[in-house]
Amino acid sequence: MSASGHAGKHIAVIGGGAAGFFAAITVAEAKPNAQVTIYEQSQRTLTKVKVSGGGRCNVTHQCFDPARLVTYYPRGGRELRGAFHRWQPQDTLAWFAARGVDIKAEPDGRMFPTTDDSQTIVDCFRRSAVEAGVQLRLGQELKALQQNPEGGFTLELTDGSSASADKVCITAGSLKTSQLSAALESIGHTIEPLAPSLFAFNIRDERLAELAGLAVEKASVQVLPKSKPQSGPILITHKGLSGPAILRLSAWEARALHAVNYRFDIAINWLGDAKEQPLQERFARLRQTSGKSFVRTKVFDAIPRRLWERLVAVAGIGPDIVWSQLPKAQETALIRELIDGRFAVVGKTTNKEEFVTCGGIRLKEVDFKTMESRLVPGLHFAGECLDIDGITGGFNFQAAWTTGHLAGLAMSIA
Ligand SMILES: Cc1cc2nc3c(=O)[nH]c(=O)nc-3n(C[C@H](O)[C@H](O)[C@H](O)COP(=O)(O)OP(=O)(O)OC[C@H]3O[C@@H](n4cnc5c(N)ncnc54)[C@H](O)[C@@H]3O)c2cc1C
Repeated sequence: MSASGHAGKHIAVIGGGAAGFFAAITVAEAKPNAQVTIYEQSQRTLTKVKVSGGGRCNVTHQCFDPARLVTYYPRGGRELRGAFHRWQPQDTLAWFAARGVDIKAEPDGRMFPTTDDSQTIVDCFRRSAVEAGVQLRLGQELKALQQNPEGGFTLELTDGSSASADKVCITAGSLKTSQLSAALESIGHTIEPLAPSLFAFNIRDERLAELAGLAVEKASVQVLPKSKPQSGPILITHKGLSGPAILRLSAWEARALHAVNYRFDIAINWLGDAKEQPLQERFARLRQTSGKSFVRTKVFDAIPRRLWERLVAVAGIGPDIVWSQLPKAQETALIRELIDGRFAVVGKTTNKEEFVTCGGIRLKEVDFKTMESRLVPGLHFAGECLDIDGITGGFNFQAAWTTGHLAGLAMSIA
């Protein structure tokens, strides 16, 4: 007899988001006689899936090599490596295809439903959950969790009711300070401190004024004094800088930037990996071959004209200066602006397309083959409640699908 008094096991999934639905459907399909219940605190499920990817849901990423896939996770990559060998983006695609949902790749590797509508994914989950017999309890927040001496758990819910479960899977998303986080700590788990990841940088600097909307495709940026640089597109916004290279940097440096309250300096190379000496040689050639051309006339395809004009002006080069007249000091200043532009960041702006939190259940406390707690048998974790986060591009959902699948499978077996 199960903890709930049912002949089949009762499996409680806490949180009706991406990971919760994936875990619940997996266990319900693998173990049809189990009673599987999702407890969701709000009146709505899958709300983040619905708004994700700007309403299109960036379901996963077109990267099918687990060793490469893990390099997109500032936290959790090491632990996910084995997990991705068991469930990776190809498995996700096959899972959706088997349910009639086709997914396409964009040139940068992000993958979306062919409908370009997140509702397709939401509907797929809701339908699959109903077909698999998953029960849904809305408006029921888990506030306490007790291990029963005879095995299983008692769940205390905010509506005053309680429930028994043989196994529990926590899929509650980012673990803010709450009754649930206190309950998890009281049974021995550690919650790594939370900090936002994936955000744009606020910068007030004349060099960027009125250039909002310009993008440089192959720039590189690092946090000073010496973070690892991140390369890729940088977008100038009304508030400062955004774009893939900035978001990636925000993810890798999430903890360090949180610690300095989002006030720090960055260095930008607008030409990606260009170095000083080749630029000096290029400018020396320009002095000879285009001596009568204005320096302010665009030189590099990679740099938008208005940004180039701004950098030239900032280097103290007047609009009438031609290459043959360019003083050495101004040339040096221009090269500095091009490859080592220094900017002071004074805050952050949430990325509307996707934002996540780093921090959560300490990964050492979880067995990544089963997503089961190493401290509390029968308790599993999946999704963002773990101290895992990826850069933008579909990696966060993939982590939710993978951990949700492994937790669901393990709960169906034991
Ligand atoms: C605007 C936005 C866009 C995004 N776009 C993308 C994207 O395109 N691609 C991508 O890969 N990632 C994206 N992400 C990140 C992605 O949404 C998350 O990584 C993912 O939703 C995590 O899934 P989860 O199930 O762990 O948590 P969630 O989706 O947050 O679900 C957790 C659920 O648990 C419920 N809950 C919490 N506490 C309790 C409790 N005590 N009792 C009961 N229920 C509880 C919550 O109400 C919620 O419904 C985006 C995030 C945001 C905010």
